[in-house]
Amino acid sequence: MSRFWSPLVNDLVPYVPGEQPKMANLVKLNTNENPFGPSPKVIEAIKAELNDGLRLYPDPEGEALRETIARYHGVVPEQVFLGNGSDEVLAHIFYGLFQHGEPILFPDVTYSFYPVYCGLYKIEGKPVPLTDSFEIDPEDYRQPNGGVIFPNPNAPTGRYLPLEQVESILQANPDRVVVVDEAYVDFGGESAITLVDQYPNLLVSQTLSKARSLAGLRVGFAVGHRDLIEALNRVKNSFNSYPLDRLALAGAKAAYEDEAWFRKSCDGVITERERVTKALENMGFEVLPSKANFVFARHKEQSGEALAKSLREQGIIVRHFNKPRISEFLRITIGTAEQNDALIRGLASL
Ligand code: PMP
Repeated sequence: MSRFWSPLVNDLVPYVPGEQPKMANLVKLNTNENPFGPSPKVIEAIKAELNDGLRLYPDPEGEALRETIARYHGVVPEQVFLGNGSDEVLAHIFYGLFQHGEPILFPDVTYSFYPVYCGLYKIEGKPVPLTDSFEIDPEDYRQPNGGVIFPNPNAPTGRYLPLEQVESILQANPDRVVVVDEAYVDFGGESAITLVDQYPNLLVSQTLSKARSLAGLRVGFAVGHRDLIEALNRVKNSFNSYPLDRLALAGAKAAYEDEAWFRKSCDGVITERERVTKALENMGFEVLPSKANFVFARHKEQSGEALAKSLREQGIIVRHFNKPRISEFLRITIGTAEQNDALIRGLASL
């Protein structure tokens, strides 16, 4: 701490991202990246943009990408907001769409950035416990609040909430914005984007980091009623007019234009997820049903922390959270067949 720090900084408890190790030969299954990589068309589009793009500012509204995403999801461009990763989209939502006098509801357990944004903007967060089977119960979201946010599928549990239940949360909160964070929806869930024209209080956020394998490019977006999108644009233009650079805009658009690559990548993850789940169960793990590109599993006898440590010694990194209720679990990203084999062999040897 320095005497030059603002008191606002003194109070912050920042998010701690998963490790990005420097060593190249590790089996990296800790941050839910997609092992198959982006479409080759993304690389081509970025190379083309490099030829003469970099001296120019990007389109501040990202119109071409917004049009592409809107068409893909059956909405209009005025219903799409772009951000530098969905983390940035979420930051603007917390600032601009949640009512600051009342607590923001989110599940306990969930994505740990939500309480961090509450801290950044000095708004109260109220964690709502998951059920005994680690599910979201819509009934628990019938209480006074300044807004609701939850991932679907949830992270780090991987559990998916069917759309009828998402609707019951929306119906219980007609005067509050309900945000469905769909970072992992493409691995077997159904998107709530189909509901945005029916519910003016619904905002859906998605990312290109997972199913489209572009975590390094930093592109996320939100879809909702145009009034909600207008609020986000006001926040964005009060902060950074150009959150997406020209390479990101071009690469993201190309990713949406290669549907075959996207499908193949999602199917590959789902097939491997089912195989990893069975292998873990055969080794004495309880694995929560997952619709994400990771599984959340605890061993019937061995401690989560010890397992993560032993895997690490073998060059395999998975995520372990030292938090109440989930400290016995490992969150394991689904990798390539070879990486998953290494994980299974590694665990079998313990
Ligand atoms: N939401 C959830 C639930 C996540 O797990 C992540 C990735 N860690 C994000 C949002 C952010 O993704 P990105 O900023 O890469 O779009």
